[in-house]
Amino acid sequence: MARRVVLLGATGSVGTSALKAIEAGDFRLVGVAAGRDVNALAQVAAVHRPEMTVVADPERAADLSAALVPLGLACDAGPSAMEALAAMEADRVIVAIPGFAALRPTLAALDAGRVVCLANKECLVAAGDVVMPRAAKAGATLLPVDSEHNAIFQVFERGALGAVRRIVLTASGGPFRTSSREAMAAALPRDALRHPNWSMGAKITIDSATMMNKGLEVIEAHHLFPVGPSRIDVVVHPQSVVHGLVEYADGSCLAHLSNPSMVVPIAHCLNWPERAPAPVSPLDLVAASPLTFEAPDEVRFPALRLAREALAAGGSTTNVMNAANEVAVAAFLAGRIGFLHIAEVVERALEAMAGSSTAARTVGDVEATDREARRVAERFTIECGVA
Ligand code: MG
Repeated sequence: MARRVVLLGATGSVGTSALKAIEAGDFRLVGVAAGRDVNALAQVAAVHRPEMTVVADPERAADLSAALVPLGLACDAGPSAMEALAAMEADRVIVAIPGFAALRPTLAALDAGRVVCLANKECLVAAGDVVMPRAAKAGATLLPVDSEHNAIFQVFERGALGAVRRIVLTASGGPFRTSSREAMAAALPRDALRHPNWSMGAKITIDSATMMNKGLEVIEAHHLFPVGPSRIDVVVHPQSVVHGLVEYADGSCLAHLSNPSMVVPIAHCLNWPERAPAPVSPLDLVAASPLTFEAPDEVRFPALRLAREALAAGGSTTNVMNAANEVAVAAFLAGRIGFLHIAEVVERALEAMAGSSTAARTVGDVEATDREARRVAERFTIECGVA
């Protein structure tokens, strides 16, 4: 029988790859949601005829009804409809919503005990201390879609946890891998949005350019793989063919390689624990070579250092960092601050909110910290402002 799949975030880059994987395999899209792009969402619904279609933005409710009711398709709108959709009866729930907004729907799916294919990293960075215990309590399964974490998941021998020496996340280095700080200071959004290997949404592409993406991924890995922060390393690998590896005490390193396509980790999560054909071109090692590796430069890319420091500080510090980063990236994309100001805003917000860290948090605490950090970071974007 076809696996029932719910897809949250169907109109973005990961959502589009997920639809490819769903269409190519033995899957049925039973629930679908998007943030606000009603036209694209209605097109997906018309093709797949899901049991429920939801738009997160309640102001788009009427537009969605106008498109779907004549087709005899059920639809709804708003945050509580998103959470109900996330918890509906399904074999897989794919969370491809960008940013902190994914937190509540992810928790709803986990609380319902679903197998959650998580493409979003911000909710683990902001609230891994809340999300992971909730998943365990409900007996839910969390499968990482983020390519590096999916790679590590595939080669991580849970039974040999004591023999894991370290895990390594690879980073492409982004469009400014070889740029000077001076060049980065002058970079415009269109320069930063030009990623060499991956075609992704704007937020993650800017995160790749600052390397905050890899900082977020170190924190994400910390929540997914119980090895401790000192055993999570980053290496720059410009070709994005090796996505992650695990080094064991016997000197063996198990790596995962594939073409840089999000269809690979999505298809893996949809079919897990089985494997099935996916619409991906085979990896041509000769054409992909040479594969090269470099140490990351935390002086030119301070976001990586900030993320490590935030993880070490614990409590709500990564919650603050995530919110400040979302605010700073949006300000950069809007042309309100310069590229180097992104890490500066994050660092100043972390300093301003240092010591407010708490343990044993609730979702309400997480959301309160997020709001306060956004307010603080917004103030620093105005101080940095170039407009
Ligand atoms: Mg990644």
